[in-house]
Amino acid sequence: MSRSAHPAGPRHADVLPEGHYAAPPADLNALDAKVWAQTVTRDADGVLTVAGLRVTDLAEQYGTPAYILDEADFRSRARAWRTAFGTDADVFYAGKAFLSRAVVRWLHEEALNLDVCSGGELATALSAGMPADRIAFHGNNKSTEEIRRAVEAGVGRIVLDSFQEIVRVAHIAQSLGKRQRVQIRITVGVEAHTHEFIATAHEDQKFGIPLAGGQAAEAVRRALQLDGLELIGIHSHIGSQIFDMSGFEVAAHRVVGLLKDIRDEHGVELPEIDLGGGLGIAYTSDDDPREPHEIAKALSEIVTRECEAARLATPRISVEPGRAIVGPTAFTLYEVGTVKPLDGLRTYVSVDGGMSDNIRTALYDAEYSVALASRTSDAEPMLSRVVGKHCESGDIVVRDAFLPADLAPGDLIAVPATGAYCRSMASNYNHVLRPPVVAVKDGEARVIVRRETEEDLLRLDVG
Ligand SMILES: *Cc1c(COP(=O)(O)O)cnc(C)c1O
Repeated sequence: MSRSAHPAGPRHADVLPEGHYAAPPADLNALDAKVWAQTVTRDADGVLTVAGLRVTDLAEQYGTPAYILDEADFRSRARAWRTAFGTDADVFYAGKAFLSRAVVRWLHEEALNLDVCSGGELATALSAGMPADRIAFHGNNKSTEEIRRAVEAGVGRIVLDSFQEIVRVAHIAQSLGKRQRVQIRITVGVEAHTHEFIATAHEDQKFGIPLAGGQAAEAVRRALQLDGLELIGIHSHIGSQIFDMSGFEVAAHRVVGLLKDIRDEHGVELPEIDLGGGLGIAYTSDDDPREPHEIAKALSEIVTRECEAARLATPRISVEPGRAIVGPTAFTLYEVGTVKPLDGLRTYVSVDGGMSDNIRTALYDAEYSVALASRTSDAEPMLSRVVGKHCESGDIVVRDAFLPADLAPGDLIAVPATGAYCRSMASNYNHVLRPPVVAVKDGEARVIVRRETEEDLLRLDVG
């Protein structure tokens, strides 16, 4: 198994574990279906196509870099989650992975719900017509103004993250003459890593209220007493890019344990539990993600079993996938600007974007794949590092990958699986303009988030 760094893992590691890039793939032109959006393939002349559109044409029309998003793939993944969980459960798409008004409409049409975690995300959701009762509002420090807007809009739930917030939301709801549906986010002492998890007594992080030391039980006690709140359930989110279901098993066990304590102490059975998101996707051929129906089956079995043991009615489950829905649906299209071989090391391939459109490599030591997109090549594999144009040596897009040795300026390359946490985390570092998101479907392309312009930058700079 290859190393897959946990998001909290080492940054800017100089040394990779041995064997990490030992073997170039058998065929550099092949496209591993696991990491590419569903409609990606190559034309007879080798040009990468998506939804029947050639990337050479897309680059000409929309420029590079650009995020190219396969709408049919997005919809089919959303639908697969919806179908897998059925009508006894709710699927909330985590908007922070990537949110735009087009995405909100697709979610609405595919009958998914939506998680937001800021006033900006809430405004986007409401402006595109997502019914408020299908929106959940998250965050560890929602402002009073954000809470007021969420309560006024009538969001389906606010996920409470601290003792202060319990009082704050109750107060605001009451002052508006409302009773707000809420869940309490707890930390269950499970740290989920990519391929393993660690069950601990405590979790050292900013989110949620610890189950340990009776804090979560105390939060429930207070929430139940406040007229402005209707406590509907308990929330737990254990991590990101997770492949191993056993972390969810421990989390569900502990959440159900709390539900049982609540029943015993207060005589109330809370009707819902939310097990969060965090399901992994394939960034490289080494990753083996689970299908939504396997995840749904595993989670529902775990919860049912735990509830039977505790003699509780099985609560309604909700899940919050972000990355698993949008991540695989997009790739970033770049143009190669320079190719710099460093003897005995590797070849640095500079593209026209970088850490401003994909911060995950620098931030999380994340791994990506890359392919020559404007043609195929029979040249030898060349160990490469794809880097951006920023004034920063940590500006790496793909740390280690093989590209054909005849790669040259003007070639287009594509980095797959950039649908999640790339455009949504994009920055203006070096006053580089953020790329557009181009949605493609059935031979048609349309811009859903336009490219930033220098006027956009200058408009914010009021002199
Ligand atoms: C980030 C987050 C998610 C989504 O995580 P993914 O890894 O994108 O699935 C879901 N729920 C909560 C509370 C989160 O913070």
